[in-house]
Amino acid sequence: MNLPWLEPILTQWQAVQPAPQNTLLHGPAGMGGVELMEAMARQLLCPQGGCGTCPACAMLDAGTHPDLLRCTPEQGKKDIRVETIRDLNTWVYEAAHQSGAKVVLLWPAEAMNRSAANALLKTLEEPPQDTHFILLTHQLGALLPTIRSRCQLWRLPRPDAATALAWLQQAMPQAEPEQLQTALAIHHGMPLAARAWLENEGWKSYQAWREQMNGLRRGQKTLVDVAEAWSKWDVPQQALDYFEMWCTRQLHARPHDMALHGLYTAIQEARTALAGNANVQLTLERVLIHYLYPQEVDA
Ligand SMILES: [Zn+2]
Repeated sequence: MNLPWLEPILTQWQAVQPAPQNTLLHGPAGMGGVELMEAMARQLLCPQGGCGTCPACAMLDAGTHPDLLRCTPEQGKKDIRVETIRDLNTWVYEAAHQSGAKVVLLWPAEAMNRSAANALLKTLEEPPQDTHFILLTHQLGALLPTIRSRCQLWRLPRPDAATALAWLQQAMPQAEPEQLQTALAIHHGMPLAARAWLENEGWKSYQAWREQMNGLRRGQKTLVDVAEAWSKWDVPQQALDYFEMWCTRQLHARPHDMALHGLYTAIQEARTALAGNANVQLTLERVLIHYLYPQEVDA
């Protein structure tokens, strides 16, 4: 797994006997929760507890193990649908193909809508023998309380800043120190999210964001130009991520600046709006209006 901050959890979880049937992991996205689930599945499905060399481990590496089911929203979708959970229920009641155990990994658990959660609940109440459910949630409060109460809850500890930086440096040896620091700052210290950002040319889009902001400050670009450019990005929310990091840094220096607080709130409102399919360009324009004319928005 090579995620030192999660190793103690894996060790403690392994020590529980008999192995828990319903496990619920809780932690922010991008800290390694999915990797931890995969490591737990390996413990359960490999006869040697994750040796890395047996046929079961080979199938896990190849992603072809017939007794492991991964349940997550389909590409481009936000929800885990009730049909998916019905298929899952059918799957868990079929006989295992290999030595015995079956494992279901489901994340993010809060993506199940109410009917999906209810369909899963029945199975969690009486899970078939040797079947293990490992759920991961980023928002515990958004989960049906009855789901939560059926599972053994494990809270995942975040890595401290030094551990996160050391890990990221090892994962991205070509990256400059400034890139590593920025990647972590943007992703609230979550190392796997920071790595994914660096791998997907996040640094380039951050540089583009800075250039557009400089253009705006110098009056070479209008706020409409800038919002339009950002709205064409594959992930326009990234512009908000960079804005938030900038705003957070300014707030450290000027904690009583009400205009900055207003901007911070506007960024969070914009996130909610974009999650709810608002017009992207207009939403980004609103944030820029807060940035350029704070006194007028507050009035
Ligand atoms: Zn093995």
